[in-house]
Amino acid sequence: MELDSKAPGGPIETRWDRHRFNLKLVNPANKRKHTIIVVGTGLAGGSAAATLAELGYNVLSFCFQDSPRRAHSIAAQGGINAAKNYHNDGDSVYRLFYDTVKGGDFRARESNVYRLAQISLNIIDQCVAQGVPFAREYSGYLDNRSFGGAQVSRTFYARGQTGQQLLLGAYQALERQIGAGQVKMFPRTEMLDLIVIDGRARGIVTRDLITGKVASYLADAVVLGTGGYGNVYYLSTNAKGSNATAIWRAHKRGALFANPCYTQIHPTCIPVSGDYQSKLTLMSESLRNDGRVWVPLKAGDKRAPNQIPENERDYYLERRYPSFGNLVPRDVASRNAKFVCDEGRGVGETGLAVYLDFRDAIARLGRRVIQERYGNLFDMYERITGEDPYQVPMRIYPAIHYTMGGLWVDYNLMSTIPGLYVIGEANFSDHGANRLGASALMQGLADGYFVLPNTINDYLASQKLEKVDTGHAAVREAESNVTCVTRRLLEIKGTRSVDSFHRELGKLMWDYCGMSRTAEGLKYALGRIPELREQFWREVRVLGSGEELNQSLEKAGRVADFFELSELMCLDALERNESCGGHFREEYQTPDGEALRNDNDYAYVAAWGFRGVGNRPELYKEPLNFEYVHPAQRSYK
Ligand SMILES: Cc1cc2nc3c(=O)[nH]c(=O)nc-3n(C[C@H](O)[C@H](O)[C@H](O)COP(=O)(O)OP(=O)(O)OC[C@H]3O[C@@H](n4cnc5c(N)ncnc54)[C@H](O)[C@@H]3O)c2cc1C
Repeated sequence: MELDSKAPGGPIETRWDRHRFNLKLVNPANKRKHTIIVVGTGLAGGSAAATLAELGYNVLSFCFQDSPRRAHSIAAQGGINAAKNYHNDGDSVYRLFYDTVKGGDFRARESNVYRLAQISLNIIDQCVAQGVPFAREYSGYLDNRSFGGAQVSRTFYARGQTGQQLLLGAYQALERQIGAGQVKMFPRTEMLDLIVIDGRARGIVTRDLITGKVASYLADAVVLGTGGYGNVYYLSTNAKGSNATAIWRAHKRGALFANPCYTQIHPTCIPVSGDYQSKLTLMSESLRNDGRVWVPLKAGDKRAPNQIPENERDYYLERRYPSFGNLVPRDVASRNAKFVCDEGRGVGETGLAVYLDFRDAIARLGRRVIQERYGNLFDMYERITGEDPYQVPMRIYPAIHYTMGGLWVDYNLMSTIPGLYVIGEANFSDHGANRLGASALMQGLADGYFVLPNTINDYLASQKLEKVDTGHAAVREAESNVTCVTRRLLEIKGTRSVDSFHRELGKLMWDYCGMSRTAEGLKYALGRIPELREQFWREVRVLGSGEELNQSLEKAGRVADFFELSELMCLDALERNESCGGHFREEYQTPDGEALRNDNDYAYVAAWGFRGVGNRPELYKEPLNFEYVHPAQRSYK
């Protein structure tokens, strides 16, 4: 299969405009004749469904939560990037583009990233018009703060609740269209299969999570905005419900899965505290604007932080990276936290934590300013740890947070299955091997509000789609597939809980395909995962029945998919014999411990085709060319 990215050529500044001009349009009267399924109501899916309906399409919108506004996007804390340059500190569309390509360690498509930087400007205007209450300066202008990997202030925020406020904006736009009858909303409904007819995505099979009823919905195109797969690691900062089922089942129907091993580990999370913990909590990257990261200079120093004098502290990020200091990108900050803990200089009971200290910022700015900026995060920290971060430095450690990999999409956001579009965290585009902070919200909203509503017209205007109904053989086959998997899970009646399998898989992934990876470790994981997967299908105990609200059953289906996906992640990590961004292979590092890329052999997107459970998937490569930002060793020194 040839992977055609459809990325336009020519001057990068005008690529998106020229491309948009060349896309076919659907006239307003004809839009009414089309139905589009949008799965997901986070920032990507919610904004897409609202915008497509506003354009006149009939939209069927699905989510597994009880309300679209409970999508995981609501958890986003720190902010959203945009190259508005309100601070006149040297920002521009080009600089945001440059920072993002470099931040992703030269493993993203230039055309996509430039478009993202351009659209960042529209997003802020759109959200302000919706009434999103961004923080403002005294003058009335929107305020900004800095995030990792940038030396300018371009992150717009609403305290530590930016995702929630942006989602309320998208949600009210969606609700308006639900009220107008243009969107039909299906909450508590989980997509469990994709219907492909004549090689095109034509619908989905769902399970009603309250009644267990399996049903099919048909349309002219299907959009997946179903989020990331960080929960494959069991412990992550993601919402507990986030999962890979929608994209994984689409993958099994033919959509290629790109760069599955690119996962983001966030440096500032509340450390793991015990074996029975089921969730990790993020402390936003915005805290690194004012918090200073340090560990004791000497290994094994068990004194309380306030008793360690200044000359016995190691502000290791400021020392190693004087230009970016505490605001180095996440992959760099996480790796360095691991290095100092491996040296025995970690703090807290487990030794797997570093300090994030606000003492100097409070002395400089006063407690009130710090409270205004980060109050809700400080409260959250205190509630979880019982320690007051205004008095004692926070203890933080890296944790799984975001997945850059996802279904492969072309410049139009269409997957390798015609008519199947993938947006937001669910696709692989734009962030390369490491996502810069505050860029996920930007990408989700760019995809949903601005890119997809343009590109999907072209597909719909170019196709002559046959009318299909739920009696079609492909629909019946997909429904029976869903029913069989459900029945099989319920019939095992083994002795181990779904969570115990998930926890074991997550630990395996963290140990061997986490913050650092080796060929030896990945080979071990590739041997162990299939054993564990087979054991799961023999010994798992799923309680309850299929005809009721059954969270044990929901989880079992998701964990079954995580088993298959985790194998692909390890294989992808093993095949990529280089380090780039969050993919750190210990064998490939510079003398001072930075990621060592191999552009000669690995400057490509790895897109994998499914060939059956337990069979080796097929690798397709999309070469990456850099005309504007020339690949170099990333340096934040
Ligand atoms: C704690 C935390 C803080 C963050 N802070 C920031 C930040 O400050 N800035 C930033 O840029 N990024 C941040 N991120 C990342 C960002 O929040 C996410 O990448 C982004 O919100 C993902 O949006 P999405 O629309 O792609 O998916 P999601 O918000 O995850 O939405 C997924 C949707 O798909 C639905 N869905 C999934 N599977 C199915 C299925 N099978 N059937 C039916 N429905 C399904 C869900 O119900 C949901 O509606 C943060 C992430 C975390 C975990």
